[in-house]
Amino acid sequence: MTNSLDSVPTPPTAKSSMIYFDDVVKQFGDNVVLNHLDFSVERGQRVTLIGPSGSGKTTILRLLMTLEKVNEGTIWVAGEPFSHETRRGKLVPASEKYLRQARKRIGMVFQHFNLFPNMTVMENLTEGPIHVLGRDKATAVERGRELLATVGLSDKENAHPSQLSGGQQQRVAIARALAMDPDILLLDEVTSALDPELVVGVLNVLRKIADTTDITMLIVTHEMQFARDVSDRVLMFDKGRILEDGSPDQIFTQPEHDRTRSFLKAVV
Ligand code: ADP
Repeated sequence: MTNSLDSVPTPPTAKSSMIYFDDVVKQFGDNVVLNHLDFSVERGQRVTLIGPSGSGKTTILRLLMTLEKVNEGTIWVAGEPFSHETRRGKLVPASEKYLRQARKRIGMVFQHFNLFPNMTVMENLTEGPIHVLGRDKATAVERGRELLATVGLSDKENAHPSQLSGGQQQRVAIARALAMDPDILLLDEVTSALDPELVVGVLNVLRKIADTTDITMLIVTHEMQFARDVSDRVLMFDKGRILEDGSPDQIFTQPEHDRTRSFLKAVV
């Protein structure tokens, strides 16, 4: 094993962490969006990314969704290279085929729910497990029912997305992401398209998932109360780097930097 031509030394942090960004640079033209970024997230941690618009938060999620590629550095997920793959003992940029496998570990929920409009709720929940994970239909439906109970929508199994409120659609989108049994759930402004009275239901569902599973969550949100309630760690970004890294209590009540203080004043 250790002498395999296909093995490259894995950095210790990559081995022990669920997510590890190792000296990652991402730029669009001359615009350096992530500037030699290093951070790791442990299995089961709930981490909220905060910071001014343009500080690179969404780019981090897009790299993990494999919608963008790094310019420099390496991303590791669950101890394995993610942005790269191993060929002849070297890390080389990941092929499409490798990425298709790698991204199965990651579930995503977006601001706009992106449900399949022509499918029922249950079909939305079972399509991925059946066609991507190769589960049989009965198993996928059983798991789908469990998840609908978790998100409080057991009675909507046969409804179409257009028959649901925005908040209900978002809860289905959360159940659909979980149906793939991901290691990591990425949540990108999941409440910002919702009317205020529907936000509470979605936040309660996410709190429940945080309380009852050990799924690793990476959250981008402007809902600071939600960040405080659900996450156990907050990363404050500024200009593609981490300015502060601490517990919600530390960051929200005793930030070290004026930049963090003024950002929080503006959003809360
Ligand atoms: P945040 O989520 O913190 O608001 P983003 O990660 O969305 O920040 O954006 C960081 C920077 O990257 C911004 O300056 C944005 O204009 C730029 N950017 C993001 N995506 C692209 C793209 N596809 N092409 C060019 N520039 C982009």
